[in-house]
Amino acid sequence: MSRAYNFNAGPAVLPLEILEIAQKELIDFNGTGMSIMEHSHRGKAYDAVHAEAVANLGKLLGVTDDYQVLFLQGGASLQFSMVPMNLLGAGQVADYVNSGAWAGKAIKEAKKVGAVNVLADTSKEIPTNMPDYEALNYTPGAAYVHVTSNETIAGTQIQRFPRTAAPLVADMSSDILSRPLDLKQFGLVYAGAQKNLGPSGVTLVVIRKDLAERAAATLPTMLQYRTHLEENSLYNTPPTFGIYILMLVTRWLLSKGGAAGMEKINQAKAGKLYAAIDNSGGYYRGSAVKAFRSAMNVTWRLPSEALEEKFIKEATALKMIGLKGHRSVGGCRASIYNACPMAAIDALVAHMADFQAKNG
Ligand SMILES: *Cc1c(COP(=O)(O)O)cnc(C)c1O
Repeated sequence: MSRAYNFNAGPAVLPLEILEIAQKELIDFNGTGMSIMEHSHRGKAYDAVHAEAVANLGKLLGVTDDYQVLFLQGGASLQFSMVPMNLLGAGQVADYVNSGAWAGKAIKEAKKVGAVNVLADTSKEIPTNMPDYEALNYTPGAAYVHVTSNETIAGTQIQRFPRTAAPLVADMSSDILSRPLDLKQFGLVYAGAQKNLGPSGVTLVVIRKDLAERAAATLPTMLQYRTHLEENSLYNTPPTFGIYILMLVTRWLLSKGGAAGMEKINQAKAGKLYAAIDNSGGYYRGSAVKAFRSAMNVTWRLPSEALEEKFIKEATALKMIGLKGHRSVGGCRASIYNACPMAAIDALVAHMADFQAKNG
């Protein structure tokens, strides 16, 4: 077997150990004679999986009694709508930070629901950038403040979350559990699973329970956080297989020392890659301002687009997949989420040195 070095932005690399466990259990889960996919979502076998996923995330994220873990569908993109539909009451304002492409999409949806105040807009800046979150002019009495913890396309990441008076809502799709967080600082966090947590099809939401009570009773049942909170994400059929893989990933994360353990590993990986960029004498140039460099999505340019194309083509031949930057930013991007092994970074750094020696 030969695995690729997978730098895809999402869906993304999963731990090989997890794929092997899933493969072993695929047609006969725990001696039940059925795949977990074939089990009822109300049965004992799936129930244990669901409960373990919730419990493990509770440990990993420091979830206390006043918060609840939810598994929803519709991706992070549906959260762009669900957040304002549930939390933004008539006559209220929500604060948003436009830090890039994903924040921009969240803002677009929120504006369909209610009044949005954009506190800062760094979405068009090159090098890619974020504002000073501590210095923003937050609206007194805002319904909530929405931020994007990691801009997957720009390769920028919030380094310190602001302490806001209004509930802080964060799209953590591309960096959840890559580092510790103080959940108390947030009213709601959400993440599509397909970057750091598992396969696509599951969206993790962690909500402070009182916020679920804000939604109007007239909101469609499936779109109310309240529904999923009351039914432990089992109001309708959840994506059982995706939650099963996510549960295995949470076991793997716990075995690596949880969020704090992952942060050390992620810092080592990102550090190596940024050092390769910074020590290239200007041949490789980071796309993001240094103060907001992402440890998850490393973005950089070469001296020309022709060289970028050649670099990516040769990397692909060496089984390094997914290094093309998003079309809106150009250049190269390596998405090095939790499950991306150090061996992939080493292979990439070696290719960078080799390529520069031949084409510098
Ligand atoms: C990928 C991504 C999304 C979109 O997620 P979907 O699950 O595809 O809707 C939203 N926000 C961020 C920061 C992302 O990286």
